[in-house]
Amino acid sequence: MSSSVENVVIIGTGCAGSTAAVYTARANLAPLLLEGTMPGGQLTTTSEVENFPGFPEGVDGFQLMDNLRKQAAKFGARFEQARVESVDFSARPLKLRTPDREILAKTVIIATGASPRMTGVTGEKELYGGKGVTTCATCDGAFYRNLEVAVIGGGDSACEEALFLTRFASKVYLVHRRDTLRASKIMVERTTTHPKIQMVWDSVPVEVQGVATGAVGGLKVRNVKTGAQQVLPVKGVFVAIGHVPNTQPFAQVLDVDENGYFKPAPGSQVKTKVPGVYVAGDCADHVYRQAITAAGMGCQAAIEAERWLAEHGA
Ligand code: NAP
Repeated sequence: MSSSVENVVIIGTGCAGSTAAVYTARANLAPLLLEGTMPGGQLTTTSEVENFPGFPEGVDGFQLMDNLRKQAAKFGARFEQARVESVDFSARPLKLRTPDREILAKTVIIATGASPRMTGVTGEKELYGGKGVTTCATCDGAFYRNLEVAVIGGGDSACEEALFLTRFASKVYLVHRRDTLRASKIMVERTTTHPKIQMVWDSVPVEVQGVATGAVGGLKVRNVKTGAQQVLPVKGVFVAIGHVPNTQPFAQVLDVDENGYFKPAPGSQVKTKVPGVYVAGDCADHVYRQAITAAGMGCQAAIEAERWLAEHGA
């Protein structure tokens, strides 16, 4: 067990955590970044990012995150592969427990992001990851060249996934539980008029069916108005029904809302009720959820941590 007390521990290496690292590292605080199962966060599963300011030609999501990591490391940020399982913020120093050790910290920035929500229907879990059920068209779309696929969801993500998949798939079924899409007007227009996309309205998935080889062979759906069921003959199922914030290890000690997102202290976007503990990015923002807003929150959290350390002794 290490007895040294870290100035700043940043949990998460997505846009929010990495930006917080650049700022705190540049302030000579030698932050320790704990990266979980998805180093670089959600942007590493995106191809082209076209709306990050300063990149008129767009930028590859993985490249952007790799650049941020290098920028933070250049100023002295340290990285450790570890998943925080529980925390004790009841006394100082703050305590973080990973499967291997206890980490002591003066300040903590939680930037754990959000994970894709799953439908929970039969077969989804069993056929997830390399067997036909996925949450990332940009990662897996190319495997479905000239095959039929289904996308589940009715928001901007589902439309984006469906449109992207038309590059490869012979046909894309968009399965939505209502008869109107939640997505923005321009995405609705593009999606519903695309010749390769067939809307499956008022329908929910019932079962992802597998074939003998252990791959997806079809998606059984049920019309919620008529009760009628049909099996879509798809080889790929792309789930795009929103995200769940990764706040579980902290939910007992910090305030979260009814959907599990961190609720910052009044008057701040990033402060929590525990002095020296800050939140940033998608784990604390269900409204904007953009790379640039996450980076902005990471910057705010870093500045708050710097100020706290300056006041209370780094
Ligand atoms: P979202 O807007 O929350 O949409 C989730 C969709 O999944 C909804 O249509 C919802 O149906 C459906 N759904 C939720 N739970 C379900 C379940 N258990 N079974 C079946 N369907 C279910 O999530 P999102 O599309 O990921 O978008 C998140 C945010 O990011 C939004 O603010 C969005 O505008 C933004 N975004 C923007 C862009 C862009 O600007 N290019 C791209 C992607 C995302 P209901 O409609 O019936 O609730």
